[in-house]
Amino acid sequence: MFKRYIPRLNDFIRLTRNIWTVNLSESNVCLKQDKYEEEIKFPYVWLRDNCRCPKCFHELSHSRTILIRHFNFDAVPTKTYVTDELLEIEWNDNHKSTFSVPWLTKKQFTNEAQKNWKENVFKDNKIIWTAEQFPRILKKFTFSNILERDSELLSWLESLAIWGVAFIDNAGQTEGKNQLLAERVAFLKQTQYGNVFRVEAKPETTNVAYLSAPLQLHTDLPYYHYKPGVNLLHCIIQGEEGGENHLADCFAVAKEIKEKNYEIYSVLRDTNVIWSDKCYEDGRYYHSIHDAPVICENKFGEIERINFSQPQRDSQFNVPLEHVNKWYNALRAFSELIYSPKYSVRFQMKPGEILTFDNLRLVHGRAEYNGHRCVEGVYLDWDHIYSRIRVLRANYSYQKKK
Ligand SMILES: [Zn+2]
Repeated sequence: MFKRYIPRLNDFIRLTRNIWTVNLSESNVCLKQDKYEEEIKFPYVWLRDNCRCPKCFHELSHSRTILIRHFNFDAVPTKTYVTDELLEIEWNDNHKSTFSVPWLTKKQFTNEAQKNWKENVFKDNKIIWTAEQFPRILKKFTFSNILERDSELLSWLESLAIWGVAFIDNAGQTEGKNQLLAERVAFLKQTQYGNVFRVEAKPETTNVAYLSAPLQLHTDLPYYHYKPGVNLLHCIIQGEEGGENHLADCFAVAKEIKEKNYEIYSVLRDTNVIWSDKCYEDGRYYHSIHDAPVICENKFGEIERINFSQPQRDSQFNVPLEHVNKWYNALRAFSELIYSPKYSVRFQMKPGEILTFDNLRLVHGRAEYNGHRCVEGVYLDWDHIYSRIRVLRANYSYQKKK
């Protein structure tokens, strides 16, 4: 009897699978997909180093376990074949490796693949903003949603990564709400001001933030090598009058300076400034010092961190005499822009609201106020925020596949 062929899911997958061929060049294994002309190349040494067999790689810890002192840097494939999107390599040292081709294609040595990794796995691209754009870029979240829903937690952290600022409302007026948010991410960043700090007028304080006088635009703790990445400021009690919050995106300010006056930009980038703080907190004296420019760039020319704090800039200034005026001239340009209407935003927080922002990128300040005002603050670190973003995104794609 004629048996009707009913396609099964596996057959379908096989039909839609890409057909790959493999070739060897002098030092690369070259993969080619049937529909494309271009080859994807992987150096022998990289493949041997990234072998996924249990002798070379510990799956559970996602860690390479090849002993470097026994590693064969000169291994050469003797046989290669590719079937069902699996590349198999036999090496001249009697080792055998199997690679998933889709896994390899993500790791290919092209600008496009590496850019894709940088933006989608490593860190989100930041988008700079002006005061005019601020109302549109400011995303608002509800406290209980972040606590209850991973999708909301992810959106909040993505907003922080991309725009450097996000607002959370309906957090109530009791203490400890920032800790609950921090625990959704990882844990609090501790500093000399404690795990949690209360910004309110304090008699005999050793920090100007604890006065009711205006607080100039600044980044927190520029005197730390490991400066906290993100501030969470929970408004518990707002003063009777004044106390407006003030923000500016220094990455946008720096970009304008770079485009309009590169000389000034390079002075801000290349001059080390000494940031310092002497304080007495919780029964101890502290004297913290960090030595870094106002604008810190990485080796790709991307800005990584802004340091700015008028009260915590030390009088010790280790530059040649003839450089001093040049630096003050650059400082004047930077200060004028952060306070300019183009970049400077002001708003009044209501009790129960939490302002969260990137302390490596934004400057923040506060207007003078009357009456009792209490803001509870904590810090988070970017290492943990990006880590949470990656884990949440991985969970989502896993759920989608199911
Ligand atoms: Zn191996």
